[in-house]
Amino acid sequence: MSSNTGALLDVDFLVVGGGLAGLTVAFVLAESGHRVRVIEKRGLGVPAGGIRVPPNVSKLLAQWVPREELLRIGTLCAGTPLRHLEDGEHVGFLHWKADIMRELGGDFLLMHHEDLHRLLYTLATSAGVRVDFNTEVVAVHQGTEQVPNPSVSLLNGEVVTADFLIGADGPRSIVRKAVLGREDNAEPSFLTVYTTTIPGEKMREDPEMRRWLDSDDWPIWMGNNRSICAHPVRGHKDFGLHIYSWEGDVDPLAGEETWEDLVPVDTLDYSTHAPIVQKLLSFAPHLIRTRLMRRPEYEDDSSDEGSRWSDHTSRIVLIGESAHPWQPGGTHPVSIALEDAALFGTLFSRLTSWSQLPSFLAAYQELREERCAVVKASDIKNARMVAMPLGPGRDARDVDMRKSSADEWDEGTTKENFEEMAWVFGYVATDEADEWWVNWGRYSQEARGGEKHTSFSWQMVSMMSEPATTVTHDLPY
Ligand SMILES: Cc1cc2nc3c(=O)[nH]c(=O)nc-3n(C[C@H](O)[C@H](O)[C@H](O)COP(=O)(O)OP(=O)(O)OC[C@H]3O[C@@H](n4cnc5c(N)ncnc54)[C@H](O)[C@@H]3O)c2cc1C
Repeated sequence: MSSNTGALLDVDFLVVGGGLAGLTVAFVLAESGHRVRVIEKRGLGVPAGGIRVPPNVSKLLAQWVPREELLRIGTLCAGTPLRHLEDGEHVGFLHWKADIMRELGGDFLLMHHEDLHRLLYTLATSAGVRVDFNTEVVAVHQGTEQVPNPSVSLLNGEVVTADFLIGADGPRSIVRKAVLGREDNAEPSFLTVYTTTIPGEKMREDPEMRRWLDSDDWPIWMGNNRSICAHPVRGHKDFGLHIYSWEGDVDPLAGEETWEDLVPVDTLDYSTHAPIVQKLLSFAPHLIRTRLMRRPEYEDDSSDEGSRWSDHTSRIVLIGESAHPWQPGGTHPVSIALEDAALFGTLFSRLTSWSQLPSFLAAYQELREERCAVVKASDIKNARMVAMPLGPGRDARDVDMRKSSADEWDEGTTKENFEEMAWVFGYVATDEADEWWVNWGRYSQEARGGEKHTSFSWQMVSMMSEPATTVTHDLPY
């Protein structure tokens, strides 16, 4: 048994899914002395695009790697120019001021999915995690009262058993089915997202495109039921781009909930877009098509059915998009998934007895669920706002954006925006876990004296962890 931070119970963790959440949780758990194996059906270097890494997650990464390493693979985001997709007309500008971001504890970085994936893989394997790529889980089996250990069946026929199973297998999670005890009720939704990485080599040959590649901005082009966001990736070597096609645009039912569906660029008609957008897309090698699915039970507050993150044996848990599927290509799915992973891993670095499992799992969900729901709803709302159909609503939005362009914020607006930003970006997932332990976890352990789990008031925990500022309106991004 080894322990860096006091995980006194030596546990075999099996993580299904070696994406960003899976590798992060594996790393944090291995660092605290647990044994961890990750099973991932694909590998490194698969097609992907740009991701946003805001301060709430860059500060976690900076605990694990030097900031210089993050700045090598990421670009410090300066601001978001807001333009019309049809003609490129400038509508507004949102500053991501570096000093404000630093005040909130981190950097706002623009990265490529693959670079972060490789970084987390290196961290996890250096901490002793075993990662099996090209290995698919085809079934998940819960333990029994006599033998509580969960297991999984692999496509190659092998069965792997562990002490504890983590489902980090994304929105179409096979582990979620075991947790919920039924099939996933996913229905097609109203958003298809197309992602691509444009080779910088080609862009460099054109002065206008070179300007975008070298810029530190994250521009958004706002169209009629369609929007495009783009930014430099791989330290200005390439350019990542997402196209969001909402109901009312071309084919609202196109695509599946996967990052494996490559389609030709001319799947979309972009001939009416601003010339720079047309030029950018003409250099794209292909599009990765994915879509948002609806899960009605997740939206029904009166049912805890859809929002159960661990199973009744307390040996299987969900993190990242397997717990809460997100809008593809959103601003926050990566940061929220990594927060889940870091918080869960930090909690479980305190594990000294099997009897702690129910309280640790309840704490994990209690600490994460509300934050996930608030940030997710705001992510979708903001994405919808920049793709409003032509009409008076869109005109009013433009007037508002022109007025509240960051330079013109008065003191009141700045304060309000800062408070909202502070709630999202100021969060430190590892501190949340430590705070829970100091305020609650260790007392329940002392009261228990290593015996049976003592329950305590979750309502109290929830009150204690209420954000300083309650977010009652849309976030400014
Ligand atoms: C290949 C890929 C590329 C992406 N590119 C982008 C991007 O460019 N921009 C962006 O904003 N977001 C992208 N995302 C989504 C982004 O990673 C997530 O929104 C966020 O990081 C949450 O991550 P997650 O680890 O919870 O889920 P995911 O990122 O979906 O990771 C889940 C992992 O589980 C694996 N898996 C699923 N089922 C099984 C199984 N049965 N057996 C074994 N392994 C399994 C998947 O292959 C995947 O690697 C991408 C996701 C993937 C998988």
